[in-house]
Amino acid sequence: MNKIKNYINGSISGISKDYIPVQDPSTGEQISEVILSNNSDLNKAVENSKSAFMQWQNVTPLKRSRIISKYKEIIEKNIDVLARLVSSEHGKTIEDAKGSVIRGLEVVEFATGIPHLLKGEFSQNVGSNIDSYSIRQPLGVTAGITPFNFPAMVPMWMYPISIACGNSFILKPSEKDPSCAVKLAELFSEAGLPDGVLNVVNGDKFAVNNLLEHNDISAVSFVGSTPVAKYIYETSAKFGKRVQALGGAKNHLIVMPDANLDQAVDGIMGAAYGSAGERCMAVSVAVAVGDIADDLVDRIKEKAEVLKIGPYIDEKSEMGPVISREHKNKIENYIKKGVDEGANLVLDGRGFKIQGYENGNFVGPTLFDKVNENMTIYKEEIFGPVLSVVRVKQYQDALSLVNNHTYGNGTSIYTSNGEISRHFTSNCQIGMVGINVPIPVPMAFHSFGGWKQSLFGDHAMHGVEGVRFYTKLKTVTARWPDSIKSGAEFKMPTN
Ligand code: NAD
Repeated sequence: MNKIKNYINGSISGISKDYIPVQDPSTGEQISEVILSNNSDLNKAVENSKSAFMQWQNVTPLKRSRIISKYKEIIEKNIDVLARLVSSEHGKTIEDAKGSVIRGLEVVEFATGIPHLLKGEFSQNVGSNIDSYSIRQPLGVTAGITPFNFPAMVPMWMYPISIACGNSFILKPSEKDPSCAVKLAELFSEAGLPDGVLNVVNGDKFAVNNLLEHNDISAVSFVGSTPVAKYIYETSAKFGKRVQALGGAKNHLIVMPDANLDQAVDGIMGAAYGSAGERCMAVSVAVAVGDIADDLVDRIKEKAEVLKIGPYIDEKSEMGPVISREHKNKIENYIKKGVDEGANLVLDGRGFKIQGYENGNFVGPTLFDKVNENMTIYKEEIFGPVLSVVRVKQYQDALSLVNNHTYGNGTSIYTSNGEISRHFTSNCQIGMVGINVPIPVPMAFHSFGGWKQSLFGDHAMHGVEGVRFYTKLKTVTARWPDSIKSGAEFKMPTN
């Protein structure tokens, strides 16, 4: 059995003897096993990251950038390898996996320009012959804990930025699909990154707790479910760390009566069922405004019925399985709950089977109509291919739904009315907004982050926000000896 270990100090290592299975979600079969790092593994990683940081912080930003540029080229050459690793353990289609690697690669590309963002500010003569300037310095050893649904992209939101800013980074990927993280770290070494600047430790919550409590880690970036995000935020703060913790979502897509319905339906299809709904920016609620609801539901049903569901190795597959048997059961229980609570089940994805893949974790596309805000399927994140349609009379009702929901990750509105769309962008309580765009994931040079229960902390990921997160500000006030007046001053200096 293939053993997935840690990547520390530029080589594969593993002290712990405990391993758990990693499965192919399409077949339900075990394909490898991953180490559950113990204290010795984790201490080794932190010690190594600490000494790597001492050197790396002094490498000039431009030299760091050149290594990152090389890394970009190497990833480009390895996109197929990386996508295959993602698909084999996650289950998403190869094309979807490739897209996610490319979105991560864009952050690497952005990170090559970070010297520009590390520039400080300078003010001449803040006092007589006194100048003041600010510099941004790295934090030290930083850590990232990532979810199963984007094994390449989400780690790449974090470590390229942290490393470009002069930090070292310890990545703890999801134990459900850990191979890609190890490969990404190996490729960075190939690009010339000094050993220990990027270490990967595998494991479960034991590893996470060890990192959160470790005195030598300065900052924690987390992406995952909301209860864990909240826990990470609180625990990291308790141990004096800087923290950004991104949580779950329930993204609404509003369809106004004046929307281009063809576009809206296409947008909903990809956003609700792409990657089997296992995206934090997936659309799980479509809000039909006015009298378009019947038409909208009919069209979604028609398209969802012919969606091609299958394993990633079948190039024709448009949607793969969900991550595990346990998660499939959880989604199917939500569907049952939706029926029990009175929603109208238009398309039922339970019990979905594919010949030859009977033990795969497939859930068919599921569509509920006439869902209301009191139902469990509306309130909770399902994280599967389940779309709820809520019918409202007017735009204000749709806006209230969006704003009253506990999650605030992404939202989108389809309309041809500029005034409505402008009102929506100004007034919705959501971090990422799309106008006639179904999944408004910001580019690498902007920043990714939700509001409310979708993000705990002050900084979103990557872009300028990422640089702010991974650096601390120092402000210097300087006067040179020739300009010093004699005599002590006991009052607060003013100009
Ligand atoms: P998860 O919260 O179960 O796990 C995320 C990470 O936390 C994993 O590395 C896991 O090992 C660790 N972990 C799990 N339980 C823990 C615990 N009790 N204590 C400490 N660490 C723990 O999330 P997941 O199931 O891997 O991913 C799906 C979730 O991630 C969804 O809720 C999704 O919305 C969310 N997500 C959010 C974003 C975003 O940008 N907001 C992006 C991707 C995924």
